[in-house]
Amino acid sequence: LNRRLAEFGTTIFAEMSALAAATGSINLGQGFPDTDGPEEIREAAVRALRDGRGNQYPPGPGVPELRTAVAEHQLRFHGLSFDPDTEVLVTAGATEAIAAALLALVEPGDEVIALEPYYDSYAACIAMAGGRRVPVTLRPVDGVYRLDLDELRDAVTDRTRLILLNTPHNPTGAVLGREQLAAIAELAVERDLLIVSDEVYEHLVFDGEHLPIASLPGMRERVVTIGSAGKTFSFTGWKVGWITAAPALVSAVRSAKQYLTYVSAGPFQYAVAEALRLPTAYFDGLRDELRAKRDLLSTGLADAGFAVYRPAGTYFVTTDIRPLGESDGFAFCRSLPERCGVVAIPNAVFYDHREQGAPFVRFAFCKREEVLRDAVARLGALS
Ligand code: PMP
Ligand code: GLN
Repeated sequence: LNRRLAEFGTTIFAEMSALAAATGSINLGQGFPDTDGPEEIREAAVRALRDGRGNQYPPGPGVPELRTAVAEHQLRFHGLSFDPDTEVLVTAGATEAIAAALLALVEPGDEVIALEPYYDSYAACIAMAGGRRVPVTLRPVDGVYRLDLDELRDAVTDRTRLILLNTPHNPTGAVLGREQLAAIAELAVERDLLIVSDEVYEHLVFDGEHLPIASLPGMRERVVTIGSAGKTFSFTGWKVGWITAAPALVSAVRSAKQYLTYVSAGPFQYAVAEALRLPTAYFDGLRDELRAKRDLLSTGLADAGFAVYRPAGTYFVTTDIRPLGESDGFAFCRSLPERCGVVAIPNAVFYDHREQGAPFVRFAFCKREEVLRDAVARLGALS
């Protein structure tokens, strides 16, 4: 393994899902739903397979049906208009979109600012691109994770190339508001920065609303927005994602993407095109269901003695284990399956400043209600 990747090892998600399987624990670690997405969309995938749509290499930028559906979706939900031919690119999940964007836009030695705690692939992809990551830490203030705009401004140097944003934010559940996004947009213009905005949880906002930074003035030429069918339609195994951006940025990201995977799974692209056209009631229903699950798990964790940072979005809740008399999230997560049959993720893995993340532990609530109730009962017996 080369020096760029040596520090990364096995992802925490693989490690913790393996631990859940080996111990028969309830897996609230890796974020994937335990109920598959809509039947009609699964049928659409089967139809595409049977009809021979997408069984051979689809077009590099993605099938036209999906690019059009992505553009229509951005217009319906966010009032943003994109040209499906020049401003949309289909990727193998958001993961490839992140990798391709960083490989295409970062020069070796460039600094990339990421909100810490950050999703684990950001650090590895910045490293693969030869960039230097500069974390700006979100900190809990009055029970809510906040971005300190002064810290963000101070983190920008003459070497800063881009800001890697994520809202709604994994793992904290924070949703950046209009004022904060406007300040970030202003900073990007002032310092001539690009923004890569990971918005895979755009439909999972329970309090407030999701605002794409691409919709703010001056951002059209600077922002690459990333989406994914995994979260919105509960098909994390399909690995269909996309970016929307100005033509020059899409063209740059496509240059990298074509040598990573060339194209991604054809029949699923047709099915996701149908999914993106589902009535608004589908998206509202998913959010309402998850809001109830957020409340169930957050209340259960608080009753079990955790300090809970109630997430405004995503399907994760971050907790502080210090009220339980514990301080090391890694040790806690490694012992939890044996102690009570539940798996969670230590947030420290999402930090450069590991000590800052040490007491925080993330639980996923994209699970059936009875599973969450069982988990809450088990965690309640911890003490
Ligand atoms: N970004 C964030 C913030 C995520 O949480 C995830 C999935 N957990 C991804 C990207 C990856 O998405 P995909 O499965 O579409 O590759
Ligand atoms: N994004 C999911 C999470 O944060 C897992 C993705 C993965 O396993 N790489 O839990």
